Amino acid sequence: MNIHEYQAKALISKYGVATPPGHVAYTPEEAVQAAQKLGGKVWVVKAQIHAGGRGKAGGVKVVKSVEDVKAAAQNMLGMTLVTHQTGPAGKVVKRIYVEGGCDIKRELYLGMLVDRATSRITVMASAEGGMEIEEVAAKSPEKILKVAVDPATGIQPFHTRKIAFFLGLEGNQIASAAKFITAMYSAFNALDCSIVEINPLVVTGAGDVLALDAKVNFDDNALFRHKDIEELRDPDEEDPAELEAAKHSLNYIKLDGSIGCMVNGAGLAMATMDIIKLYGGSPANFLDVGGGATKERVTTAFKIILSDSNVEGILVNIFGGIMRCDVIAEGVVAAAREVSLHVPLVVRLEGTNVELGKKILAQSGLKILSADNLADAAEKVVKAVKEAQ
Ligand code: ADP
Ligand code: MG
Repeated sequence: MNIHEYQAKALISKYGVATPPGHVAYTPEEAVQAAQKLGGKVWVVKAQIHAGGRGKAGGVKVVKSVEDVKAAAQNMLGMTLVTHQTGPAGKVVKRIYVEGGCDIKRELYLGMLVDRATSRITVMASAEGGMEIEEVAAKSPEKILKVAVDPATGIQPFHTRKIAFFLGLEGNQIASAAKFITAMYSAFNALDCSIVEINPLVVTGAGDVLALDAKVNFDDNALFRHKDIEELRDPDEEDPAELEAAKHSLNYIKLDGSIGCMVNGAGLAMATMDIIKLYGGSPANFLDVGGGATKERVTTAFKIILSDSNVEGILVNIFGGIMRCDVIAEGVVAAAREVSLHVPLVVRLEGTNVELGKKILAQSGLKILSADNLADAAEKVVKAVKEAQ
């Protein structure tokens, strides 16, 4: 799960991570009040969307008067911001963050994530702040320091010193960075994060180390013990079909191709998508109906798949192990009738009562293409979509 920058900063600052003061605003008037409350002479108005790259796209404005705070807020609220992380459709800005302007001396990078290779929280640091870390990693990996932290000891002063020296910090900046990194590690652990990324981490003229930006992602499997974090979810930032699927405990992942995939089991989903690609098609999504694919679940799954206007054909690939193929076939037929299917549908069933299942599909009178195996199914659906175009 993802949250906004202002929420991330509020959360991590509770653990002692230094951030500039700021207030969220939903209207230009609230932005003015926020600037007045903050005081000072320089403010930064920042679009709150779940994507980075806002600075380059006009989503971060440094302003020097309260009138300009208002103008920037008026301009930003309601605009569709397209950054390299939003995709071409962009995201509509509905909230902004008004933050105190910061006297930036240096911009650095500091990230923490769970490294699956070492099974440890790993700190990544680089003096190349403001740049995408993926880009730095690709072009000049030697500019990134990685420090894996043993969970038995937690973060230690030798870790933070190593990072501070690598970043070229000096004098009181070293102590300031040590406090920052230690606090960030505590927040990461306590909040069950999967990523905390501070880009840029800045050194101010006064030698303080501050988080100017903050991206925090949580481990969804641990959200059950963080009800307060769950409440920070912003439905405007999430795919409506994914939200609907989550309500019915269906795993739905939206992709950008044209073939909707209904499967049971994540492994079968991967294999189905691979083979669609092999036959020259591209998956629009995959929806895993899980083990208990009842008629109701299959119908809901169909509705979710069809709510995506990119879907030009559907491939149902279900293995009837615990579920019987005839029950699945009945579900598919009922669902296809209920949603008045308007795109080609290919069904591949395998497992218990497969013959009976195929018979139900054939006798339904619906235009359902039955497939004998995975390759046959992929070939048929790719061909049907091409013909329908
Ligand atoms: P994004 O990563 O989405 O582009 P950031 O929050 O990193 O957004 O902001 C982009 C840039 O804007 C920063 O690298 C920094 O130079 C400037 N900036 C952001 N917040 C402030 C602030 N409070 N004071 C001064 N400059 C800021
Ligand atoms: Mg940033």
